Amino acid sequence: MSLIADTAVSGTSYSFDMLFSYAVPENISETLKEGCRVIVPFGRGNKKRTAVVIRLREGSISGLKALEIQADESPVLSPELIRLSLYLHDNTFCTYYDAVKAMLPAGYNIVMSENIPRNAVGNSVVKIVRFSDEYINNPENFNLTPKQKIVADMLEESGAVSEKELAYICGVTVSVIRRMTENNVLVCFENEVYREVCNSDVEKRDINDVVLSQEQQTAFESIFKNVREKIPSCFLLHGVTGSGKTLIFEKLIHETVSMGRTALLLIPEIALTPQILQRFRGLFGDRIAVLHSGLSVGQRYDEHRRIKNGCADIVIGTRSAVFAPLENIGIIIMDEEGERSYKSESSPRYNTIDIAKQRCRYHNCVLLLASATPSVESYYYAQKGIYKLIELKNRYNNAPLPEVHIVDMAQERSAGNRTGFSHVLSSEIQRNLDNGEQTILLLNRRGYRTVMSCIECSQPVYCKNCTVPMTYHKVNGKLMCHYCGYVCDIPEKCDKCGSERFRMTGTGTQRVEEELEIFFPDARILRMDADTTFSRASYEKNFRDFADGKYDIMLGTQMIGKGLDFPNVTLVGVLSVDNSLYSGDFRSYERTFSLITQVVGRGGRDGKYARAYIQTFMPDHYIINLASQQNYTEFYKEEIEIRRSLIYPPVCDLCVIGISGTDEECVSVAGKCIINIISGMLKNWHYRTPVKVIGDLKCSHTRINGKFRHRIIIKCKNTKEIREFITYVIKESSKCRELSGISVYADMNGDTGF
Ligand code: ADP
Ligand code: ZN
Ligand code: ZN
Repeated sequence: MSLIADTAVSGTSYSFDMLFSYAVPENISETLKEGCRVIVPFGRGNKKRTAVVIRLREGSISGLKALEIQADESPVLSPELIRLSLYLHDNTFCTYYDAVKAMLPAGYNIVMSENIPRNAVGNSVVKIVRFSDEYINNPENFNLTPKQKIVADMLEESGAVSEKELAYICGVTVSVIRRMTENNVLVCFENEVYREVCNSDVEKRDINDVVLSQEQQTAFESIFKNVREKIPSCFLLHGVTGSGKTLIFEKLIHETVSMGRTALLLIPEIALTPQILQRFRGLFGDRIAVLHSGLSVGQRYDEHRRIKNGCADIVIGTRSAVFAPLENIGIIIMDEEGERSYKSESSPRYNTIDIAKQRCRYHNCVLLLASATPSVESYYYAQKGIYKLIELKNRYNNAPLPEVHIVDMAQERSAGNRTGFSHVLSSEIQRNLDNGEQTILLLNRRGYRTVMSCIECSQPVYCKNCTVPMTYHKVNGKLMCHYCGYVCDIPEKCDKCGSERFRMTGTGTQRVEEELEIFFPDARILRMDADTTFSRASYEKNFRDFADGKYDIMLGTQMIGKGLDFPNVTLVGVLSVDNSLYSGDFRSYERTFSLITQVVGRGGRDGKYARAYIQTFMPDHYIINLASQQNYTEFYKEEIEIRRSLIYPPVCDLCVIGISGTDEECVSVAGKCIINIISGMLKNWHYRTPVKVIGDLKCSHTRINGKFRHRIIIKCKNTKEIREFITYVIKESSKCRELSGISVYADMNGDTGF
């Protein structure tokens, strides 16, 4: 009997993935631990690969290769995280190594780069590199040297990295990277270094100055009771905008760490919630570690170490921070829990809530989900008593909510106003400018998708199966239903009134911006541009400048809708959200409701009189009306009825099978091929729960990153049986000749939008 290591090996494909076993050489059999990284010989050529030991066991080593190098003295993954990686593997259709990688900061993947130095932190301009579009589209056209390959592997993991840092981590000279830029594998651009909110310009605060209101105190107490008594449980804190949820988090975290336990606060997007971070820094100083993708690789590595060695007992971060190597967790808080950014859209395609639950079970701790607009799923569980529901019905200090007006843009149009601004909103903006008060303006989400509706009676064109308006798609000039996939041509006449004239609603965002400058030439306008990838530092600066009164108007997409707390904002204008109602998948009502409710909630937080104007071509739409009243409960009632009758989550699960490739024809053949595999299986197997297959559907936004995409949606119950079924489908599909060169993935409860 000898020692065997079962390992997760890097770079394996999903279809052939498993735990690969290696013999452990005598000389390290004492020191090697589960959770250590090793170097193993892999495949026919015995190429060296990084792997992580998942399990050590006794057994016969005959026929096994021996692993070569133990890379870590002590494990990089705790037993808990090893378990969690197995959970990820079993639940999200990813390779073992993808699961492991999700838990380690970028850089751990390349073993030789153990000692990353502390980065110089400052606001200087650095050269950042990323893959060129040519390389992303056709990597096979580029021949990389072994050194260049290391660089490419690293970049694949981290997206974009500073040139200098990349060279250091990969152990190559900068000239290797420059050569790759010359050969058009990489592109280089200059960027301001993201600087952490450093402690010096953070106002120190004392937790004793945080005095909760009666309503907040009651909420705090019932949650903290379970923290103290180590009762694993999940709370849903549903509090209207401005009810002071953040202060409850502060108290909870303070009390939790006072008990010697640790705390994790997850937020949807760090750059957009700089205020939370500042508040917590003020209270807890450098006991906080921050984890998010805006950090440099070196910073992330540092933060990871500070958590691991116990220097930081509070972690604040975005999605992947849910894997923070904390021990003895007392509470996990997810702010704005309904945000879709909590769902990972690349492998491993996990949902942060599921991971948080696993960790809570392990640590006997509390999961606190919080939002003014919880996801329909979460509220459903709260209604069923699976989550404990806590409601905050009042704003702090009883600050009144803005007075909301719905503005019918069809009337504006017939009165000859062709701009993006109704008369009433324009004059309110002017009034705010005169009074020195600030205004937030929200633009519709996606400009390229529009609703088609009748000019005479304003009724949109509905899907014949779903009573959901169809979405117009520019690419093929057709109307599509995002619920069931039904496609049709533009109808000849309106169902309701017979008119033959239709209109596309939705104003281009660019035009609105220009108009604003023309109407209010002296206004200081802050534009928050979603398309700038590398402006996290400037986001933060912009928000601070806005808070400091350096701007009059903030104009932005849904990113400015949530979490911001500016006392001087007394006017909120929603320029158009009609597109968002019909843009996405079956969650588009939910998202629109949430968006309007939240952005309206940005106004009047300091008790000042505030008002909000919602411009729409559908002033009677119930979603818009309920959102303007901030009536979540009624919204939920309506929405859960739709989900029940059409069978959508939370009453079932949706597994999306995504198919993509560079050749349109091949992708379409692959889609049919997978449908055949599925129907074959459904014919011969007997499943305990019903399964319904929809598709294959061509994504209307067909080409993204040079890839054509199809999707198959499987309505099911997320059970072990169905996961095995889907795993089998994916593995089976990799055997088809038609599918070579096509990538196929499965995503449980992933986005069904196109
Ligand atoms: P939410 O996240 O629920 O929308 P916030 O936590 O941002 O609300 O609180 C809204 C505003 O009310 C903030 O400016 C906050 O400082 C203030 N506030 C809330 N609770 C208290 C309290 N107990 N003491 C002092 N200020 C409070
Ligand atoms: Zn009509
Ligand atoms: Zn439909």
